Amino acid sequence: MKYYHRCLLGLGLAGSVYLASCSSSTTNETDTMTAAQNATQQTPNDVHSFAKPAEAVATHLDLDIDVNFNEKVLSGTASYLIENKTGTDKMVFDTRGLQVEKVYLGDNQEETAFELGEEQQYLGRPLTVTIKPDTRKVTIKYKTSPDAAALQWLNPQQTAGKKYPFLFTQSQAILARTWIPIQDSPGVRITYSAKVKVPKELLAVMSAENPVEKNAEGVYTFEMKQPIPSYLMALSVGDLVFEKIGPQTGIYAEPATIKAATYEFAEMDKMLVAAEKLYGKYRWDRYDLLVLPPSFPFGGMENPRLTFVTPTVLAKDRSLTSLIAHELAHSWSGNLVTNATWDDFWLNEGFTVYFERRIMEEVYGKDYADMLNVLGYQDLQNTISDLGATSQDTRLKLDLEGRDPDEGLTDIAYEKGNFFLQNIEKAVGREKFDAFLNSYFNTFAFQSTDTDKFLNFLRTELIKGDEQLAKQINVEGWIFSPGLPEGFEAPTSTRFAKVEEAFQSWQNGTPAAQLNTKDWSSHEWLHFIRMLPAGMSQQQMADLDKAFNFTNSGNSEVLAAWFIHAINNKYTTADKALETFLTNVGRRKFLVPIYKALAATPEGKKKALAIYAKARPNYHAVATVTLDDMLK
Ligand SMILES: [Zn+2]
Repeated sequence: MKYYHRCLLGLGLAGSVYLASCSSSTTNETDTMTAAQNATQQTPNDVHSFAKPAEAVATHLDLDIDVNFNEKVLSGTASYLIENKTGTDKMVFDTRGLQVEKVYLGDNQEETAFELGEEQQYLGRPLTVTIKPDTRKVTIKYKTSPDAAALQWLNPQQTAGKKYPFLFTQSQAILARTWIPIQDSPGVRITYSAKVKVPKELLAVMSAENPVEKNAEGVYTFEMKQPIPSYLMALSVGDLVFEKIGPQTGIYAEPATIKAATYEFAEMDKMLVAAEKLYGKYRWDRYDLLVLPPSFPFGGMENPRLTFVTPTVLAKDRSLTSLIAHELAHSWSGNLVTNATWDDFWLNEGFTVYFERRIMEEVYGKDYADMLNVLGYQDLQNTISDLGATSQDTRLKLDLEGRDPDEGLTDIAYEKGNFFLQNIEKAVGREKFDAFLNSYFNTFAFQSTDTDKFLNFLRTELIKGDEQLAKQINVEGWIFSPGLPEGFEAPTSTRFAKVEEAFQSWQNGTPAAQLNTKDWSSHEWLHFIRMLPAGMSQQQMADLDKAFNFTNSGNSEVLAAWFIHAINNKYTTADKALETFLTNVGRRKFLVPIYKALAATPEGKKKALAIYAKARPNYHAVATVTLDDMLK
């Protein structure tokens, strides 16, 4: 996901080679690996799940649910094929806020005993089902609660079209259990099929093979043949239409948004070609996007086959599409090779940011990717300074026991992870590193892996006893130590050097309107705005605004950065635009710093609370959890 800068920022809120020589056989083998085979792999201990997959594990889910917009409830059955590995008489699932009505065993639907354990904060309640040594199928009849954290129910006013309600899910990190009783650990993979009944005027889509148009019955069926972890279970229901981009790619959006979206993301096919050139065949058949209403809390969520994406990247100039490169890259790092626990989150996000920058370099050139690296580095520095330079949460390998994993998922995993991989690339050369990454993705395809397994692979496949190289790669410094290792060289950008020149000249008294800002992209503008001094006069603010029209920018990145200065300098001209932004946009990466800036003064806090009271119903639970805490 893309969080703060990040595919989903806790605080920050939050690829590979195709082996020319051996990819085809490896690919086929891994593609046909069954979920059951996968399930027999060793599963590491996950402190954020009650499930005991080493004893009894689910391999396939058959979901059959009704979507009730009036009651804001999903109800139906989750039927699992299971493997009882130890002959145990108990199988454990994760639930949170679910009403479990009955549990049955086998095809004959023989009712069995079950127990819901004690509620634990963040984790919910374990559902323990009595099974037999030869049980192959467990069916759970259940209902969600209207405040299920994964589900956001939008009324028509909250959509682009204003006519129909809308529903979407956000399962990462541990919210799948709020809409499906499930073994909710990224170390467990299942295939799934689903039947979903929705109001006739709406279309349902999932992280699976999808319909492209509505049918008269409002009943849709889905199939996900590749085994996926639970956090990639996804559903959305709304007034959606589909439009094709390339042979393998397309976009789902509300009719009111589809035209802007197909323009904005026209280059997604090019990105797919670039990604395959780097790290091998795309293994999920189709790659489509679903453009959500603005309350979606993240930049994007890499639900397989169907990335969920915020409409705040519809900048009308294709300037914020690195987000798509990021979510697409997850088709390898994350969805194909998955972090086994949330403590290993950097394996998902660090690799994905590295891969994202490589895709952007391939499609738009090195100068462009350099800008993204510098902005990412700035985000990373801010995160390290927020958390504290010696904070254990600034290590790549995390320890999130006893906490909501979402809390620990910051820019560290994303940007520090990326710079660690760039550091390895520098040490061994690009060609060798790409070959290594290709091999990594092939070796661990459709498996969950952890930091230890990755490090073993690094030692045996790349370091190979070369002590000098091991020192350069510095695993200890990057993965197990806080902050950035000594000797790290910050990234630079030639395009930003020009921005810095313009900024200097403004500081020396050149009026804003006379600065050379020709052909600046979103990134250059963002860099410029971030450089502006914390304290500016009303006249300086007005001069900048008049020259560059920041307050009325259609670009959400520019707006969000500008609002921070407007708040800090009490530039009230921006008040109305700020309020509109906060009441419409639910993307946590923008909300958190803006509300934080507001809350820094008593007067601002009053304003923040007034806006928040109005805007809160538009925000997803993952955003309100953070904001309730900040504004309490
Ligand atoms: Zn991501």
